[in-house]
Amino acid sequence: MAKYIIGIDAGTTGIRAIAFDHDSNMLSNAYSEFTQYFPEPGWVEHDANEIFDVTMAMIKQCIEEGGLDKNDLVAIGITNQRETTVLWDKNTGKAVTHSIVWQDMRTADRVAEFNAKYMPDKYDTLGCIAMTNGSGPKIEWIMNHYPEVKQGIEDGNILYGWIDTWLIWKLSGGKAHVTDYTNTAGTLLADITKLDYDPMFLEEFGIPRSILPELVLTGDFKVDSDPEVLYGIQVPIAASAGDQTAAAVGQACIKPGMIKNTYGTGSFIVLNAGETLPQNIPHETGLFVETANDICEKQHYALEGFANVSGSAIQWLRDGAGVVTNAKEAEELANSVEDNGGVYFVPAFAGLPNGSDPYARGTIIGITRGTTKAHLCRAAIEAMAYQVAESFNAMAEYAGVEIKSVRADGGGAKNDFLLQFQADILGVPVERPVITETTCLGVAYLAGVNVGFWKDMDEVASKWQCEKRFEPRLTDEERKKLMDGWNKAIKHASGWLK
Ligand code: ADP
Repeated sequence: MAKYIIGIDAGTTGIRAIAFDHDSNMLSNAYSEFTQYFPEPGWVEHDANEIFDVTMAMIKQCIEEGGLDKNDLVAIGITNQRETTVLWDKNTGKAVTHSIVWQDMRTADRVAEFNAKYMPDKYDTLGCIAMTNGSGPKIEWIMNHYPEVKQGIEDGNILYGWIDTWLIWKLSGGKAHVTDYTNTAGTLLADITKLDYDPMFLEEFGIPRSILPELVLTGDFKVDSDPEVLYGIQVPIAASAGDQTAAAVGQACIKPGMIKNTYGTGSFIVLNAGETLPQNIPHETGLFVETANDICEKQHYALEGFANVSGSAIQWLRDGAGVVTNAKEAEELANSVEDNGGVYFVPAFAGLPNGSDPYARGTIIGITRGTTKAHLCRAAIEAMAYQVAESFNAMAEYAGVEIKSVRADGGGAKNDFLLQFQADILGVPVERPVITETTCLGVAYLAGVNVGFWKDMDEVASKWQCEKRFEPRLTDEERKKLMDGWNKAIKHASGWLK
């Protein structure tokens, strides 16, 4: 039987485990959702104990349903939703509170206070403007609201980690308390210039360093699983990259200037910025400055842009507005009209999608008597592309690397109209790969290179195959006119609740 690597994506709504062979063929693919808790408006919680149980079940299902021999498993890689908190008792091995998920907004006031105190001065070391995603204020919130957790921390019984840290601690039988450095992006706890935690911010949130996981560089990651936990299997867990880092590797963005964008519920665009830490990026761009990985021997850095609402705007057309019955129909309607008819749709359901204005609200503007639901669909899909263009244009201006194309993945990347419009509005080709499960694939690649299953990143990059390429068709003038319309629509959506 063929040897294989399992890539696990511990995502926000579910756990996916995929087995890949040496040729990157998918041998088996297991997926299950887990419970989402919404105890108050704007709050989102997970049960980390359940996440571990579901992960174990998906590893088992992946091996069994693929008819795979557990002795052929060479390594495991784990990628995860970033920033979500887990605090657990190291004696009982159980999470002591629900996890506060990155999407949770309960720390909004604290984050505003933090930004007033530290921004923009600390943008260069923190790598981002603080957002409610950040883990630091969430840990502080838990310590303030659960005295028994605070006491447990003081008594040295409680450890902290992100979802990857927690899963690896469990799988190693409680021996390894580690994370890959790429998981610290946006946590408000690390100093990008030092590749370490920032003592000033640990003090700000009252977090003792002793509860935090050791930070490990991607190329050094190797932890042995405990066979008593993992169905009798002792195997290296050889990668734990953050989800967007993993997706960029799965898209083989290993050279400076290479970009991937994932169109899921939200969208995440990541640029490989090369070996020099990008500096003097204006914080108004909303870009995150991050470490990419050091798997190509040298540390690489990344710039990341995001929009919280992307494919979910299409879900709203379906479930909220009832304009279509599925996403495919939205694409067909968009294709049925020649242009957007002057209509723009800013899906600022909870503030501007890039987090820059919490007071903005969703806006559809430019409607005339001739506007039809086809124009609405077209405007919603175009919005997915305009948001990417905002981050892309900032990257092109400030990153100092030449960008030749964008590689697309995620649920929305199935949409040919979207990818064509994306190429048009960016002015560079957009490419869709044959394998779109890039997150699991990327972390499998990282683990596989670390254990020598694949020789190096050049070897895995050579496996990337383009399924379809979309060439830009607009003139600079046409592109500018459309972007100007989008920027005008953004102005109308901004500050609505103020
Ligand atoms: P996530 O990992 O965030 O759950 P997925 O990558 O599974 O997301 O993609 C799901 C999202 O993709 C949904 O928001 C859905 O509306 C969107 N989507 C699916 N098909 C299309 C399509 N043809 N056009 C645009 N968006 C789509």
